[in-house]
Amino acid sequence: MMSFGYNPQLSEGSAKTPLFQTSTFVFKNSEEGRAYFEVAYGLRNKKKSENLPLSYARINNPNAEIAEERLKLWDKAEACALFQSGMAAISTSILELTTPGSLILHSSTLYGGTNHFIKDVLPKYNISSMEFDDNNSVDNIIKEKKKNFGNKNVNIVYIESPANPTNQLIDIEKCSSLAKKLSTKSNKVLLLIDNTFMGPIWSKPIKLGADIVLYSVTKYLGGHSDIVAGAALGKKEFIDRIKSSRVFLGNIASPFTSWLLLRSLETLKIRMEKESENALKVADFLSKHPKIEKVNYLGLINKSNKQYTLYKKQYESGGAMITIYIKGHLKIAYKFLDNLKLIKLAVSLGGTESLACHPGTMTHVDVNEKTKKRIGITDSLVRLSIGLEDPNDLINDIKDSLNEC
Ligand code: PLP
Repeated sequence: MMSFGYNPQLSEGSAKTPLFQTSTFVFKNSEEGRAYFEVAYGLRNKKKSENLPLSYARINNPNAEIAEERLKLWDKAEACALFQSGMAAISTSILELTTPGSLILHSSTLYGGTNHFIKDVLPKYNISSMEFDDNNSVDNIIKEKKKNFGNKNVNIVYIESPANPTNQLIDIEKCSSLAKKLSTKSNKVLLLIDNTFMGPIWSKPIKLGADIVLYSVTKYLGGHSDIVAGAALGKKEFIDRIKSSRVFLGNIASPFTSWLLLRSLETLKIRMEKESENALKVADFLSKHPKIEKVNYLGLINKSNKQYTLYKKQYESGGAMITIYIKGHLKIAYKFLDNLKLIKLAVSLGGTESLACHPGTMTHVDVNEKTKKRIGITDSLVRLSIGLEDPNDLINDIKDSLNEC
């Protein structure tokens, strides 16, 4: 993360990657400019010996390119496309990989923005969706699809694991075989996974059969709550298509965002490890508190719970996201949030500072009430993102706040 993909000799010997804050790049001569655009617009293929220049920062920029090279390493992906937000990565990937008239199959619990995009935006482009029960077998999911949607074409299976905000785990291998079973000779169904909560350190979805891994880079990858960015990773053939949509939707990460991300990637592993260490201590305290009904923290899943096997198969750590159900209702949950002093009341997650929010009335307010009830987004649910503070300070803050509830 300190050196890969960057050659100091090309930048005056600068030890750190400079910020290439420019909107356009100077061609050596007209022939070079022509060659670039012929390839960019698909008029001809790039020759093997050809080294194409950079041209315009909506298409590419050196800071984004270097960050993409480094992101590829974590997920062992062939290619990466960096975006100006997680939603840009998600929406651009879905729009590129689906067709009007098709159906998306998705797991039950999704980030509120993704849920809104799939259920409220995509229908405008004649793309419909079917939520499947995460515990259903592949055959039953296919049966349900047939019953409700007949032979409607499926291009994408979309999952989020661990899901925001409940930490629900989805079986990646099972969903990969679902995508394979739905595929035909002329239509390869792709498995897309949002790996924001655990990635890229503790989960490698490509190994388990995912085709595209998506991130809100705003979260752990950015890690300092000072950038908004996103990424899509996978096979070059798919990421190249996603990148060409990115050019025309105009949502590549800016040089400055990418430059800040390069800074963040250097400490990604140690940040996430320490945050997870802190989270285990906080979750352990919460699980024994009389005012807490239930704690969903991956590091504390009981061995008798069905999700335990999945947790062990898919993840190498419990992560740093904790979901708690406080005894009482909305008023008590709000009181708990309002009483916190060190932990800040804010949406987002994965930053160096600890944050708490109320997904039911904030990030997931748009999810319909029936669905919320079914997937466990209740009035008493509070989501905590644990940061790098002294864990005893965090525990004391939570203890004081609960005492006043
Ligand atoms: N995916 C998950 C799991 C998220 O939590 C979020 C944002 O909270 C997003 C995607 C969207 O990312 P962004 O806010 O960077 O657009």
